[in-house]
Amino acid sequence: VSSLISRCRTFKVLVIGDSGVGKTCLTHRLCAGEFPRRSEATIGVDFRERALEVDGEKIKLQLWDTAGQERFRKSMVQHYYRNAHAVLFVYDVTCPASFNGLTSWVEECRQNSLGHEIPKFLIGNKSDLRDVGRTDCHVSQELAMNFAKAHGMVFFETSAKNLPKKRLNGRRGEGEELCQR
Ligand code: GDP
Ligand code: MG
Repeated sequence: VSSLISRCRTFKVLVIGDSGVGKTCLTHRLCAGEFPRRSEATIGVDFRERALEVDGEKIKLQLWDTAGQERFRKSMVQHYYRNAHAVLFVYDVTCPASFNGLTSWVEECRQNSLGHEIPKFLIGNKSDLRDVGRTDCHVSQELAMNFAKAHGMVFFETSAKNLPKKRLNGRRGEGEELCQR
């Protein structure tokens, strides 16, 4: 068994973005299959793993759930990016400030990954809240798609919590796809 496990390729995936956008809930959902009942502020960095099979090959996703605290980041930041296989830039679709905040995260990534191109994903989380409340200030998909294009990212909207109501019958929501086990 141990030789099987060691043969399994591990991919280091960083989960980056402003505090409160749902990074911890998303990694919990991906790795434990559920929305956490309560989520505490992340201190420093948390790791979670998720085994997957892609094209018949068993792989492991190692998700690095990072916190935004300056004092941790300054000393840790280079470790985050070392040997990273992908970065998920997460914002909250109901919070434009978290979308605007991405610029500095992208810059941090650029500075710390000089010399190697890391695949980047733009993740608009809390899509279950997209058509709820004051929707006029929500981050539009068009805006996000343009940002993704400009930075060479692949864009998804997700929910760590629920599928958007209108997608429940019939078509599958992004949240479900992402969280499928
Ligand atoms: P982090 O600071 O980025 O790690 O954010 P957390 O994962 O701690 O989540 C912050 C808050 O957003 C918590 O109150 C979560 O319950 C809530 N939350 C996270 N993801 C979602 C989501 O997809 N939908 C909704 N409605 N709430 C979410
Ligand atoms: Mg967190």
